[in-house]
Amino acid sequence: MKRILTALNDYLQDFSSLIYPNLCICCNESLVKQEQHFCTRCAIGLPRTYYHLASMNPVEQLFWGRVKIEKATSFFLFQKGSKYQKLLHHLVNMPHGIVTVGKFPNCLTLPM
Ligand SMILES: [Zn+2]
Repeated sequence: MKRILTALNDYLQDFSSLIYPNLCICCNESLVKQEQHFCTRCAIGLPRTYYHLASMNPVEQLFWGRVKIEKATSFFLFQKGSKYQKLLHHLVNMPHGIVTVGKFPNCLTLPM
């Protein structure tokens, strides 16, 4: 019985996505069932900084002489007008909760 309900739910979600498709925040392409918020192509193309791997990275340097901190980092580079600008606006305007970006092993989970 549970399998039938799951299959029915899948059919209903597939049908509703024909009318109201889930779109990628960044590129407005349709999302596949395993994707949330933004597509895998945009996740892969995200301009990551890898600052968490480097000490004295540019984000930490922003705080030098101002505030005593132990670590600072940024996940990706922000460039005004890029498709990832919409992602940042979406994250800022999310209600309280957790945003998970991607389903693959190195996905990003942000407590909001
Ligand atoms: Zn996309």
